[in-house]
Amino acid sequence: MPSISPELQKIIDDFATKDLGGKASVEAVNLNDTINSSPLLVERMNLAVSQGYLKKMALNTDVNAGASYSVGGQTMNLSKNTLTDATNAHTKVQGDLVFQIGHENQHAFNAWAPAPEGFSNVAFQQFNQQVGAISISPNAVHDYSAALGSQLDVHRRDEAIAEIGGWNALVSRVAAQTHGTPSLQQMYVASPGYAADFVTQIGVAHPYSYQLKSNLSINPDMTLTASAQNIEAMGQNYFDKNGQQARLGDGHSDYRNSYATFYLSQIHANEDLQLNAYQASHHGHSPKVVMDTAGLGLKEDQIERNGLNLTYATDNGRVRHGNDQTRMSYYNTAGSVVEHHFDHTASGVNKGTYVPIILNDAANKTPELSMNPSQPEPLAPNADARAMFAHLLNAARSDQPDAMMGAMNQLSQTDFAQQRQAQDLQSVQQQQATEREQALAQKQAQELAAQQEREQPQVMQQQHEPHSRAMVR
Ligand SMILES: [Zn+2]
Repeated sequence: MPSISPELQKIIDDFATKDLGGKASVEAVNLNDTINSSPLLVERMNLAVSQGYLKKMALNTDVNAGASYSVGGQTMNLSKNTLTDATNAHTKVQGDLVFQIGHENQHAFNAWAPAPEGFSNVAFQQFNQQVGAISISPNAVHDYSAALGSQLDVHRRDEAIAEIGGWNALVSRVAAQTHGTPSLQQMYVASPGYAADFVTQIGVAHPYSYQLKSNLSINPDMTLTASAQNIEAMGQNYFDKNGQQARLGDGHSDYRNSYATFYLSQIHANEDLQLNAYQASHHGHSPKVVMDTAGLGLKEDQIERNGLNLTYATDNGRVRHGNDQTRMSYYNTAGSVVEHHFDHTASGVNKGTYVPIILNDAANKTPELSMNPSQPEPLAPNADARAMFAHLLNAARSDQPDAMMGAMNQLSQTDFAQQRQAQDLQSVQQQQATEREQALAQKQAQELAAQQEREQPQVMQQQHEPHSRAMVR
């Protein structure tokens, strides 16, 4: 039986001392018990620590969140509630926690291990380079479909492999408890919320029967190999869940749109950064931003309810913040004449709300045809999208020489510029040429003040687990 290494124990103890009320607290005891219950988890965490992929543990600041892994800080964030409840007597909660930690620990490998095992952090940097290159292109069409699509595919693969990591950690726990190869029933009972993505419980009452999901190929010892087939299977069983099943964001988003909400912010920030220069060399015209929403599975209502942030951009160090009326024009294809808009919904009057095009809005040249005319009621904003953004700003601020820094160069400029809010705002106001822009600038002042207050990043969350029970992310 492997035991927790001194280095991992120090990380656990530091976490306990700082966040859990000491090494003897219920939460700290439960955490140690939980990790020790799965020999494979001990082994994998020891390895992640020794390789530098896991450096710290911390509490998720969102009390409703499950667990998360912060790529830039190599930090695993866990839920206080889960730690409190994960006593030996509550084996299902402890089973859930084994799964969560196994899942997060695998994200650490996916981000930082040498290729081909590690890939997610490199892919993120590539995405930023691609978006930067498209945004400065002199072409009439700026098509982000491929860049977005490949990045969403990376998340799908990352989550699928993390799911396999969680499953295998749980297998090891159940095997240690039962001194044998776990049955599907034992696996299901050990953590029904998570195991249900691997095993189907059949029947309406006892006795149930249990069936492995038909797209998985399992080893004789019940572990799953991260084969191409199993990765695709968990992509289907987990990442591809619809909004009602995944319940991300405001409770209605799927994974794809939850992640896309963040990436659209980045695309907009880059476009906005380059807009003045583009217009200066194109007789005042703007590029046509294209996103194949159907092919990418993007849904404007989910994205806007998730809290889309369109206020990040700079213009040579000057803040070019939008306000709560900011819109991002896009087309579904390069040939389409139907102009759609993503609205800023991370704050302001449209916070967390789907904003169908308002037909009498003069700024809106082409009404979207498929809109529900009734305004949905405002919903809670997407804590995940905000946390993700906070994470990136945090990474940008932190002076850490990690790869995230370079990747987020442009947003870090934004962030730096925000600290000079007063003079920036004055400068922006002076530069606003038209009456319309002057009116916007006034709103920017209020928005900026509010925004700066909001942007005190708490945690960085590249992968995060928004639900304490069944959903990990
Ligand atoms: Zn995850």
